[in-house]
Amino acid sequence: MENLKLTMFYLGCLDCQYFRLVNCDDETRRYQSPISAILIQHPTLGNILYDTGNSPYSKRDYGAHINQIYPVKQFISIEEALASKGLTCGAIDRLIFSHLHFDHVGGLNYFAGTKAIKNVTVSRPELLNACESVFTGNHGAYVKKLFDVDGVVYKPIEGTVELAPDLTLFVQQSHTPGVIGLIVKTRTEGNLIFTSDAVYTQDSWNYLIPPGGNINKTTNEFFDNIQYLKELQKKYNATMIFGHDCDQIQEWSRKGTIE
Ligand SMILES: [Zn+2]
Repeated sequence: MENLKLTMFYLGCLDCQYFRLVNCDDETRRYQSPISAILIQHPTLGNILYDTGNSPYSKRDYGAHINQIYPVKQFISIEEALASKGLTCGAIDRLIFSHLHFDHVGGLNYFAGTKAIKNVTVSRPELLNACESVFTGNHGAYVKKLFDVDGVVYKPIEGTVELAPDLTLFVQQSHTPGVIGLIVKTRTEGNLIFTSDAVYTQDSWNYLIPPGGNINKTTNEFFDNIQYLKELQKKYNATMIFGHDCDQIQEWSRKGTIE
């Protein structure tokens, strides 16, 4: 069988306090938290995009709270990133959202009127949580207008879903009630597991340090999920790739397209 091709896009960064990603005592320490998306060009499934980055209108649309804590420092649109591979948003067959926070769904608007917007995979617990959050006024990191775009059709999943022998989705109950991670089998880089924001950085993983602040409801969910991920890593002998790790996202986006 032909191999899938995988490209990590670097889509700019947020400027935030480091402890919000990896707990520490120094509240003055800053971190340039990178934004990313993954393009998978699959021989049988077509073009799949995992996350879409920020909105170009963050200042206008994100609200004072998000703009204060996670201001967008650098913005690269998903449209621009796809164009660097010779693709338009109309060439994407399916979108997968790791979760519905602003820095993952902010590019959905670029897909208005495309086939991809009618085929958006999200976890059912995440969709319910995002809707409950925005409709009860406890928005947190959800911005309704970013994920409630005209014409969007969500296809909710639960548990573990094998889309193809080389591409599996799994739902994690950490960071939010339903963060989709990816298991991807590649020819040149072996098996990769993308955790998204259930684990933000390599240091969080290596030293078992949960995020600070109030993103996780309890630190237990973080540690339970780490345990689950360790088992997956062992089972697949996989390289772990985290949601907002600066060095890792720079490194993987510089690799270009891998098979
Ligand atoms: Zn994020």
